Amino acid sequence: MHKPIRVAIVGSGPSGMYAADALISQTAIPVSVDVIDKLPVPFGLVRYGVAPDHLSIRSVRDTLDKVFDKPGVRFVGNVEVGTDISVANLRDFFDAIVFTYGASRDRRLGIPGEDLDGSVAATDLVAWYCGHPEADRATFERLIPSATSAVVVGVGNVAVDVTRVLAKTVGELTHTDMPEYVFDTLRRSPITDIHVLGRRGPAQATYTTKELRELGELLDSDIVVDPADLVFDEASDQLIATDKAIARNVDVVKEWATRSKSGKSRRIHLHFMARPVELLGDERVHEVVVERTELDGTGAARGTGATFVIPADFVVRSVGYRGQPLAGVPFDETRSVIPNLDGRVQDGTQVVAGQYVAGWIKRGPTGIIGTNKKDATASVASLLADVDKLPTAPFATTADFDKWLAAAGVRAVGNEGWRAIDAAERALGATNGRDRTTIATNQDLLRAANLVSE
Ligand code: NAP
Repeated sequence: MHKPIRVAIVGSGPSGMYAADALISQTAIPVSVDVIDKLPVPFGLVRYGVAPDHLSIRSVRDTLDKVFDKPGVRFVGNVEVGTDISVANLRDFFDAIVFTYGASRDRRLGIPGEDLDGSVAATDLVAWYCGHPEADRATFERLIPSATSAVVVGVGNVAVDVTRVLAKTVGELTHTDMPEYVFDTLRRSPITDIHVLGRRGPAQATYTTKELRELGELLDSDIVVDPADLVFDEASDQLIATDKAIARNVDVVKEWATRSKSGKSRRIHLHFMARPVELLGDERVHEVVVERTELDGTGAARGTGATFVIPADFVVRSVGYRGQPLAGVPFDETRSVIPNLDGRVQDGTQVVAGQYVAGWIKRGPTGIIGTNKKDATASVASLLADVDKLPTAPFATTADFDKWLAAAGVRAVGNEGWRAIDAAERALGATNGRDRTTIATNQDLLRAANLVSE
């Protein structure tokens, strides 16, 4: 029997939980796993990214949660690696570390006016409506009730999510676990028009058909597509002919282009071949200058110089997520990922012994939740193949690590604390006739975990 190893996983989103599961499910090497997260609660973007009204996708959290029932897997929440404990320090307690902390920041548009008041990153809007403890509540509670026309930049699934949440009636959302203050703010939203901007054509959009279709099925929001926007070049026709998913996406928007407005209170205007080039406003944004684009034959778009203006007092930039560096770990600034070979962290051409990576911080922000299972399992396979070469941690017991955290004044949330938070959220939901209501401040989460009493 091999000697037991201890592994720290940094980040408890899907890739971290799938990595923990892959480690604990094999029997060749005895492993104990600590899944560390800076938040007091696990599951990362499954909790704070998947749209609250997508209940079946959110239910993945039940599957991920079962990993904590397995002997040898601990949740260690409310511990920020890089702040509460350095990576170097972590190596004293673990034989191997797997970085799975995802891509938490937004990509930038790089256009004038991007930082005007009223222009927000989709990552921040999503964090707010999901009840993320670090979300900027005051900004959204001020902006949304004073906006009438919104522009959402991007045609990926995140853009579709935020558009749907802004376009739905509160009645279409009340079955979700959104915090009460989110409903209160959305109830006061005077937004009537939401313009969604795709810089390429309908054959190049990155949303998926199921998510797209929902935009055309809302209770009080019409969908508007200008037939002139449905531009297809030879390369697009080839895509449509060879890729069923793209053909389905195109069929959906073609059908919408034939619809007439039915007089609903809100309208979603889906634009293609349109990219923002400037946000105009004094303090707050009031217009978006949009340039018409054309396809260049290779699937990319180029500007035509022709512009038009969309009135907008709320702009949501939904152009992708971006990974962040972590002190003590190599980082590829160009790709915003941790450089690696088959999940082994690389510093230049050298492999860093005992360090591994999985998920979005390994490959960039792409794919569906399930993509991370294969990805995390592959990284864990590399770790297990290296097991005889791992540096041995000098203080390799859970008690050593817990003692260090306590001495450093870090109040870690363990499995019991998480279970207590989970029960408290379900109880709070029951008082509102829902399955669950998200507890949205760190103080309240720690109180629910019985770690603070005031
Ligand atoms: P995404 O699919 O990469 O979409 C980014 C969008 O931003 C694209 O339309 C892109 O256009 C556009 N864009 C990028 N730079 C731009 C610029 N400078 N100007 C104008 N537009 C620009 O990313 P995402 O929507 O953030 O989603 C991230 C991942 O999570 C995806 O894999 C997504 O499928 C997944 N996700 C899945 C679900 C679900 O399954 N329900 C929900 C949410 C997210 P180009 O294509 O032209 O670059």
